[in-house]
Order: sequence, then C-alpha cells, then structure tokens
Amino acid sequence: MKNEVSSSRYWNIKDCTIPIGKVTILPSYCKGGDDCDDCIRFCPENVLERGTEPNERGYFPPIIVEEGKCTVCVRCQLYCSENAIFVQKTGERIVTAEEVSLAREEN
Ligand code: SF4
Ligand code: SF4
Repeated sequence: MKNEVSSSRYWNIKDCTIPIGKVTILPSYCKGGDDCDDCIRFCPENVLERGTEPNERGYFPPIIVEEGKCTVCVRCQLYCSENAIFVQKTGERIVTAEEVSLAREEN
C-alpha cells in the first residue's frame, strides 16, 4: 500500500530540500582509467562512469551518465588529484517524506 511505510515506522520523516548540480569534466587534465577512477568510485549517486574515448595522453576520462542525480556532495572534486572535475550548484529539489522512507526501506 502506498503510504504504509511513511505513516507508521517513519512517522517523523518530513519533506526536505536537496541541492542539484552541474558536473564539468576537463578531459585533457584527467588521468582516469586503471590509474584513477576515484571520482567514479567515490560518487554516492553513480553519476559517473569510465569513458571509452581516450584523451591525448591515453587516459580515459569519466563520462556523466546521471547528471540529474548529482547532489553536489563535492566528493568527486575533492578526490580528484588532477583538478579535472568540478561541480556547481544549479538549483534545488524537494524530496518527499515518502521518497525518503522508501529509500530507507531499500537500504
Ligand atoms: S578523479 Fe580526476 S583524474 Fe581521476 S578519473 Fe576522475 S576526473 Fe579523472
Ligand atoms: S558532486 Fe557528489 S553526487 Fe555529484 S557527481 Fe560529484 S561525487 Fe557524484
């Protein structure tokens, strides 16, 4: 039943607002591939994947596959030793209490 979870077990969860962001990759700076992929590994939202096009130095920069899921946690930017990836906040979106409850149930 649709509201079963949020109305009982997670009664104290409220709607909340989270940031959404834009990811920028500078492919020529990147050392992605077997030597790195840190931004891909540390992204909690699976926004990035290893690309298939090598840059001029033979590395494989990531590609953006789920930009709409970026929450501007900035992990990718912090872990990139090459300054090859940046994020900017572009807006916000509301996550309903029901969405949060269902996510908790899945994890
Ligand atoms: S962390 Fe930086 S250098 Fe490593 S794959 Fe990502 S963008 Fe490239
Ligand atoms: S800011 Fe966070 S959620 Fe967005 S792409 Fe980087 S690691 Fe993923």
